Amino acid sequence: ATMPPLLSAIALAGRHGVLVKSAVVMERLADTTLVAFDKTGTLTEGHPRVAELHPVGKTSAKEVLRLAAGAEHPSEHPVAAAVLAAARDLGLPVPAAADFSSTPGRGVSAIVDGQPVAVGSPALLDEVSRPRSNTDVAQARAVVDAAQAAGHTAVVVLVDGAPAGVLALADSLRPAAAGTVTALTNLTGTTPVLLTGDNPGAAGHLAAEAGISDVRGGLLPAGKVDQVRALQAGGRRVLLVGDGVNDAPALAAADLGVAMGRGGSDLALQAADAVLVRDDLATLPAVIALSRRARRLVQ
Ligand code: ADP
Ligand code: MG
Repeated sequence: ATMPPLLSAIALAGRHGVLVKSAVVMERLADTTLVAFDKTGTLTEGHPRVAELHPVGKTSAKEVLRLAAGAEHPSEHPVAAAVLAAARDLGLPVPAAADFSSTPGRGVSAIVDGQPVAVGSPALLDEVSRPRSNTDVAQARAVVDAAQAAGHTAVVVLVDGAPAGVLALADSLRPAAAGTVTALTNLTGTTPVLLTGDNPGAAGHLAAEAGISDVRGGLLPAGKVDQVRALQAGGRRVLLVGDGVNDAPALAAADLGVAMGRGGSDLALQAADAVLVRDDLATLPAVIALSRRARRLVQ
């Protein structure tokens, strides 16, 4: 028996490494007029490393890293992996943490060695209110600005409510990113956009390398949803590719959500309509082209 075209297309997509969850999804892939990418773990490898560690105030660099590692230990975020790897490289034992909590798109906090420790985006500096940390806040902001100007992701460490250090993280673009952006631009007629929780300055460097000029940064999970809806209101059929817990609401809001299979979080995999099983971005334009061919056969 011959399979219906959409089912054959799903089987073929599977062989390319794209898990398409339903025939409806397989058919709708052809309608995509704009692709939006998350940055960390999607357009990039998602294995950032700590390139620089700048202590602020009186805490030593090693102590900042040790406390940050304690707070990050329970987190699954790529930033957490980078902090833990840096601590391991220096032979620092990771202290136990209590009262761990994490805010997607922001960072983590915990009690480490009896001290409140927070690790996260530079937005944390806005939450420092204690007068005695004013100079430390100014110093931390200067380090953050320099790191972002250099294309690094800046991560701030607060100990007991005051800035204690700034980490500069470096991540690499996936090798297939630029070629995929070109292929998608040719297929849809529109250059993809970047939606990221990271600072627009830091994200701009990587975006330019990938051939993307429309960068929308500093977005919390709800902000990514707002951006998707705004693009849809402008008449776009939006396909969003993402990997993180922070992407899950926007993956659900997009016309089609696509999750990274290997590096993707469980929530992103559940929210998505399709999965790039091998995290290979190049399979995305291939599967859109496949959908268009299948649709011609159906009609
Ligand atoms: P993206 O949208 O690029 O995938 P995220 O929304 O996951 O990025 O993260 C945005 C920013 O939030 C990060 O650049 C970092 O500053 C901060 N952040 C998120 N999770 C953590 C964490 N576990 N530790 C430190 N910082 C974090
Ligand atoms: Mg991500």
